[in-house]
Amino acid sequence: MGSWLFASCAFLWSSQSVAQSIDNVRVWPSADKTRVVFDLSAEPTYTYFTIFDNQPYRIVIDFQNTDNRVDLSKVDVASDVVKVIRPSGAPRPGTSRIVLEINAATAPDIFPLGPSGASGHRLVVDVAGATNISPQQPSTQASTPVISSEPRVPRTLDSVPIRPLVIAIDAGHGGRDPGSIGPAGTHEKIITLAVARKLAARINADPGMRAVLTRTGDQSLSLGQRTSVVRRERADFFVSLHADAFTTPQPRGASVWVLSKRRSDTELGRALENKERLSEELIDVEHILQDGEDDPYLNRAFLDMFRDNSMADGHEAATIILDQLGRVTNLHRNRPEGASFGVLSALRTPSVLVELGFISNPQKERLLINGNHQDRLANALYSGIREFFIRNPVAGTSLAESRIQMHVVARGESLSVIASRYRVSVDAIKQHNGLRSNTIRVGQQLEIPLGN
Ligand SMILES: [Zn+2]
Repeated sequence: MGSWLFASCAFLWSSQSVAQSIDNVRVWPSADKTRVVFDLSAEPTYTYFTIFDNQPYRIVIDFQNTDNRVDLSKVDVASDVVKVIRPSGAPRPGTSRIVLEINAATAPDIFPLGPSGASGHRLVVDVAGATNISPQQPSTQASTPVISSEPRVPRTLDSVPIRPLVIAIDAGHGGRDPGSIGPAGTHEKIITLAVARKLAARINADPGMRAVLTRTGDQSLSLGQRTSVVRRERADFFVSLHADAFTTPQPRGASVWVLSKRRSDTELGRALENKERLSEELIDVEHILQDGEDDPYLNRAFLDMFRDNSMADGHEAATIILDQLGRVTNLHRNRPEGASFGVLSALRTPSVLVELGFISNPQKERLLINGNHQDRLANALYSGIREFFIRNPVAGTSLAESRIQMHVVARGESLSVIASRYRVSVDAIKQHNGLRSNTIRVGQQLEIPLGN
């Protein structure tokens, strides 16, 4: 009886664990090829064939025992080589058939890649052929500065659709890893998830932003699973939430961390040594590198520039977030601190790690499990992130293109404080909102007319 139970459980378990999924599809056109990457939950089992005797020319890929979780109609296929990516009728149950319609009868280069750096299992499809990409109109990445010394000013690019800012939120710890445990038994992983969810809800209520979470439940995540969300979702910002002390045992307030220069040098060196990661990091300047693609000096120069930009941005964002957090909780230090945290390893996305408070302090523990306090922390994080992107608009995002910003009045804010933050006049705000006096109240919603 015992062995029968064991056998049937083992069968159920294994039949579930074998099933794979396609979790994301990315398309990278460049000057000499278009690369399509399927992100998979496990090593792919696949076959493929081509149809070149009639048009449209097709590459047909069958992923065995695989569930396709990607809405292919929403994949941005801005390539002159790969015209369409669509699902097709499966030849047998459990198989996902995906068809790539291509512009010429060119044999593709198809190969799997195992997990490396921040990426998991992938199937890569390279199709030779040029896509004309103008540097002013990046079709794959609107979030990072293109080669230009000009400041990033909001501008309307007719060919680039307006998109929301993507904010990646990482709830620290989870699953088998509880994080720190408070004197009353509270697990840090519960606090980080609660605040992450509240922050995500706040962000998703803002039409200019979209939140993605590294975990939505009590799951154990590897470092790679936490960091891969940045490139998979093309996140504009990454924030990892914690409620413990990393470096010192004594009680302390909230703090915000950025990657130290030394650790980021190490990450940069790793990226240069990893051809696949390098190609991902440099994908939107490939057309500029062209002949110099294998020039290590040029690669390094680009990576250095991207890294320096994102580190400066991360530092500025951390400073603004600290200022907001200081309004709702006490701070350990009112300046960002540098540390060697692998979770902050993204080279091109501003990334911060926030310590919400110190759970092993009994008073702080009670505060951290309080829903109202969690709301205040989430609001402070949201306001800080939003303010950073108002000061540093990302071209092509709705927040940068819109000329009206909503602002919810926080405690201690006066009209002149709000006006100077958005760099508009007090009168402009009053006029726009029909205010007769300078009196405003906490929680009041104001429309801020920008760009005047
Ligand atoms: Zn932690």
